[in-house]
Amino acid sequence: MDSQDSATRPFRVIVVGGGIAGLMASNCLQRAGIDHVVLEKRAEIAPAEGASISVYPNSTRILHQIGCLETVESAGAPANRVKLRLPDGTIISDIDLFEHLKENHGNSGVIIERRRLLQILYDNLPTKSLVKLGCSVKRLRHVEDDIEAVLADETVEIGDMVIGCDGVHSSVRSMMWDYANKTIPGSVTMKEKMCMKANWKVLILVGPTMPEIGRDTHFVHNTHFSFTVISQPDHVFTFVTFRLKEPVIWPRRMFYTAQDAEHLAETVASYPVCESLLFGELWRKRERASLVNIEEGVLNKWHCGRIVLAGDAAHKFTFHMGFGANSSIGSIATLCNQLKREIVSRNEPSLSPSTLERIFESYQTKRYARMKTIMDLSLFSTRILTWDTLLTKLLSRWIFPWLPERYLTDQFSKIIKGEPKLEYIGTGNFPRGRLTWEDEVTTGDSEDEDLE
Ligand SMILES: Cc1cc2nc3c(=O)[nH]c(=O)nc-3n(C[C@H](O)[C@H](O)[C@H](O)COP(=O)(O)OP(=O)(O)OC[C@H]3O[C@@H](n4cnc5c(N)ncnc54)[C@H](O)[C@@H]3O)c2cc1C
Repeated sequence: MDSQDSATRPFRVIVVGGGIAGLMASNCLQRAGIDHVVLEKRAEIAPAEGASISVYPNSTRILHQIGCLETVESAGAPANRVKLRLPDGTIISDIDLFEHLKENHGNSGVIIERRRLLQILYDNLPTKSLVKLGCSVKRLRHVEDDIEAVLADETVEIGDMVIGCDGVHSSVRSMMWDYANKTIPGSVTMKEKMCMKANWKVLILVGPTMPEIGRDTHFVHNTHFSFTVISQPDHVFTFVTFRLKEPVIWPRRMFYTAQDAEHLAETVASYPVCESLLFGELWRKRERASLVNIEEGVLNKWHCGRIVLAGDAAHKFTFHMGFGANSSIGSIATLCNQLKREIVSRNEPSLSPSTLERIFESYQTKRYARMKTIMDLSLFSTRILTWDTLLTKLLSRWIFPWLPERYLTDQFSKIIKGEPKLEYIGTGNFPRGRLTWEDEVTTGDSEDEDLE
């Protein structure tokens, strides 16, 4: 237990969750000189769970700032080409996505196994002892000028604020709602609580490389399901998306067994993922697999009292556009920029509740509309890939293949160029592309006319 009170200790942040958002928060807070602790419930930093993460140039710019971009680039790889296919495997679009991203932003971005990114973010921390494993936060208590996080073993961490980076099933979010409704009854409505919902589930496979897949990413359209197959130098990651029969809405949560995954895999085993490979062949060679629902939603209120949310706890999308981790990194950078400006520049040991409220509100305002847009685009891409309606099928079959090759990349770039960097670290020799980052535009000129 940290027994120093807020008058004698420096401003202290309690980060709950040591996933991508939590470890990124520690990297950013350490470089901002802000004291903190990261509490992660798992016993390992990088367990063998999940598959791959897309890291776009907005995130590589920040990884460059915190000094681990080269390591990330050597542990992953961009895809050679992105190929969209019909159910029989025929290619309808063949896009040089990562090369176009490089032209637009100076860096292509990279795809990397999630656990490798977690390990690199941890290894990159100047002080690793600030991350505590096996620490599950059970309760939060606002106490006078502090907030306390009570762990499963009843030990207590004291700080000035909590960042809930504990993922889509966030318990910090539930605790924040309880606190909000206790302080101002009715302030968090049923509608707000139900905004995280799952309409899709995904079967995730990690397996060995296959020559048929090459070094490409393949999206295969099908009616009410789709395959996404992503190659890496030493692994193939496959995601099979299915529509759920009915939405699963918070607080309901579904857990699937290995047998559920096996049954579902059987139903699509004989469908092709490219010209010469059936899904069943990938399934047979898998090293591990899991079946989970895909939640989506953007909360209307990301903070209350001394609690603020970041990452999947506040904004969650379907994964087909690959913006989950990227948006979490952007939100953490935005929040840390605000904190650094207020705390370190003004050299204040503690911040009043009203100052915190202003910082958190400004952070949410900067992010909210962007997250809504990304959620809508992500859902649209999922509906297109799974031929969810006749319209999405017609669009994907007859309209999109005729768009200019750069069109898709340029839609990504419109989002990417507006994402933040860390204001308090230089970007050094991070290369420049043909687009200017919005936070580096000095003339106020828009470059959107350069985009398809
Ligand atoms: C196991 C797993 C596998 C994933 N695989 C993929 C993938 O293959 N592809 C992809 O695009 N995205 C994947 N994601 C999602 C992706 O990591 C996120 O969308 C994105 O990176 C944002 O991360 P986050 O840090 O906000 O949340 P998360 O990555 O979910 O991290 C949340 C962290 O909080 C911890 N936590 C939760 N509750 C508590 C508590 N009470 N006390 C302390 N710690 C707590 C969790 O153990 C977890 O480490 C996965 C997430 C998880 C948890």
